Amino acid sequence: MITSDTPSPPTAALPLELNRFGPIGLVVVQSTSLCNLDCDYCYLPDRQRKQVFDLDLLPLLLKRILESPFCGSEVSLVWHAGEPLTLPCSYYDEATAIIQRSLREYGTSGIQIEQHVQTNGTLINDTWCDCFRRNQIVVGVSVDGPAEIHDEHRRFRNGRGSHTFCMDGIEALRRNAIPFHVISVVTASAMQQPEAMYRFFRDHEIYSLGFNVEEQEGVHTSSSMQGLEREDQYRQFLRNFWQLSEADGHPVVLREFQQVINLIQRNQRLNQNELNRPFSILSVDWQGNFSTFDPELLSVSSERYGSFNLGNIRDLSLIDAAQTEKFHRLWDEVRSGMQRCESSCDYFGLCGGGMSSNKFWEHGTLDCSETSACRFRTQVPVKILLERFEDGPPVS
Ligand code: SF4
Repeated sequence: MITSDTPSPPTAALPLELNRFGPIGLVVVQSTSLCNLDCDYCYLPDRQRKQVFDLDLLPLLLKRILESPFCGSEVSLVWHAGEPLTLPCSYYDEATAIIQRSLREYGTSGIQIEQHVQTNGTLINDTWCDCFRRNQIVVGVSVDGPAEIHDEHRRFRNGRGSHTFCMDGIEALRRNAIPFHVISVVTASAMQQPEAMYRFFRDHEIYSLGFNVEEQEGVHTSSSMQGLEREDQYRQFLRNFWQLSEADGHPVVLREFQQVINLIQRNQRLNQNELNRPFSILSVDWQGNFSTFDPELLSVSSERYGSFNLGNIRDLSLIDAAQTEKFHRLWDEVRSGMQRCESSCDYFGLCGGGMSSNKFWEHGTLDCSETSACRFRTQVPVKILLERFEDGPPVS
């Protein structure tokens, strides 16, 4: 985590509407579009091409963030949307130096910028672990479970499965005592084997886990998880996963459940979430084009909206982007979609109105409510938790 303790300049008064935006907590930057894998459910169109975010642009990106009224006090800068480790370690060393310099030069007070990578794990070795440590980079690894499930979808371009390489990467993280969390894409075949999935994560001491159900998005236009039957199966899968974990004293913390439990325990309810709150998330592609809302909308174009990008950091500040006609059209539709959710869905307070990218991919518009993705992401986990709570405390 990189911090600066020098005093901050006063913030100018904002027009009322802008006070509803931000703060920026997550900045997703496509350090490279290239990925060394060719997972068959990937939404990225240019993953075979090595296009690199020029670090000469990073000071300007940081300036855009730090000078904006949306800047948060804790910013996670995630290198993602391609495989970030196809670049050399020196790239991230240089990024750290630039971040430190920008925080110093800009005189920002108490702002923390923490770098993250979301990686397929196949390139992690001791050298990368040294890089993660010296740059204090938080590591997320994508692994879909046991080899036969993982290798069905996560393969190199020559068709070879990537599981062995990914597990070697995880072993390197362990050897070097680098903490990490895991994101696992749930596909139809994973759902048939909840016990094998659970035991895989437990036995490999992967205790911080998030499930992303395979989605229909981007160039991935169909999913093995489409249909109501799949939703019933997923409910059974998650229920089994929870029961297995509960029997072991919950060693594996599943993001889907934990988020809901946190809200319930704090007696909090959402009226928005970071995926539909403008300038809570900033996404930047390798060319410097940027968007807000859901990172998976970055550089997507459609007949209805044109590109979801608001502009390029070379030409446009964030505050100017927030005042463009394009932004307002997107925001009007996102807000209207949230209102539909609020008026029609019992889960709104635990969801905050869903994910813009899924609304767009499934319905062609942001101005809508329920999606298959929100049933997987929110409704099914909430139902399972409520069922469990109604059953009373576990029998010891
Ligand atoms: S669960 Fe779905 S329908 Fe309900 S608020 Fe969330 S996105 Fe909207």
